[in-house]
Amino acid sequence: MISKRLQASLDNAVCIRDIFEEGKKLAAVYGAENIFNFSIGNPNVAPPSIVNESMKEVLDSEDPLTLHGYPANVGHPDVRQCIAEHLNSRYGLNYDQNGIVMTSGAASALAILCNTFLDRDDEVVTFAPYFWEYKSYVETMYGRLVPALCDQTTLQPDPKTFEAALSPRTRMVFINTPNNPTGAVYTEESIKKVAEILCRKEKEYGHPIYLVSDEPYRLLAYGGLKVPYLPKYYKDTIVVYSYSKTLSIPGERVGYIAMLDNVTDFDNILAGITASIRYLGYVNAPSLQQKMLLKCVDATVDVSIYERSRDLLYQSLTGIGYDCIHPDGAFYLFMRALEPDDARFCERAKEERLLMAPGTAFGGPGFVRISYCVPYDVIERSIPSFERLYKKYRP
Ligand code: PLP
Repeated sequence: MISKRLQASLDNAVCIRDIFEEGKKLAAVYGAENIFNFSIGNPNVAPPSIVNESMKEVLDSEDPLTLHGYPANVGHPDVRQCIAEHLNSRYGLNYDQNGIVMTSGAASALAILCNTFLDRDDEVVTFAPYFWEYKSYVETMYGRLVPALCDQTTLQPDPKTFEAALSPRTRMVFINTPNNPTGAVYTEESIKKVAEILCRKEKEYGHPIYLVSDEPYRLLAYGGLKVPYLPKYYKDTIVVYSYSKTLSIPGERVGYIAMLDNVTDFDNILAGITASIRYLGYVNAPSLQQKMLLKCVDATVDVSIYERSRDLLYQSLTGIGYDCIHPDGAFYLFMRALEPDDARFCERAKEERLLMAPGTAFGGPGFVRISYCVPYDVIERSIPSFERLYKKYRP
């Protein structure tokens, strides 16, 4: 028997991967070219060539015993220094390598932070819709995730629901921009408002509230849009970054936690993070992948490929009559379902061989998430299916 806590979590989960797997089964029956699987966020743009080049170079040049041995739990010092300098030159801040901790992607960083900060029944507030795994990371550490629903027309943080979600038990706020599942990039105005509320609440409660900025899509923003860098707006910000999406290497499991040294209780938090890396069994982020970053820290995938897909999908869907919130980043589009029950809408969409994830799975009922990290021609060929689906509801 698995634990009651885990069983309860499994019983409540709406598993996006199940939809993806169903898509594969349908492809076996109807032919892959006739199935339009928009259910999962697995990058489809090739990693930049520097990724492989750099890995080969590391393998050829580094001493094997050092390269394949245990690095420090927090990561290789030269890699941490390189990331600190990269952030300083990009955002004009003063990170030190001590404030950079290498992690196995953003997922492990979030789990590590939950272990670092949460006691039983402590709360983590997040803006809904949100990346569903937040709930798992928080509840695994016996905490409670408290969603604050975003404004339903803009999908920007709503100051009223946010303030109402905060309580003396709030230890962290998870924020994710560009956002999965909505594709929204939170505006500077939204961020300033969030920071203002947090500053006020920190004073009122008499303890820090850490803003955890989960940023796997930070560099995936379109139309020249600048994504506000959160540590500039709120002192107690802890950045979580991942190379999974910006370098298209989710299988390689590498990312980092970044903290400026003026974050409240910096030394104590660092000690907690370092211990949590061990206690949770990560030990360290993969050594080769860390070293690979020395040459890749400024590289990104060809973002214009996602932007072109975004444009085609958004224009086609709105042209048909669907109500979509214009996505400015990541590779997701959030579309209003044509009936209140978004799960039923997704079921009907399957009749047209369209696989999408119901918004309910992300705390965003009434919508569906379309992951457009698929080849351009898949989007082109899917449009008649979207047309037929629309006509079923609005003949
Ligand atoms: N956070 C968000 C918002 C995500 O969408 C994902 C992955 O899809 C993650 C975190 C975890 O990413 P990884 O662990 O691959 O870095």
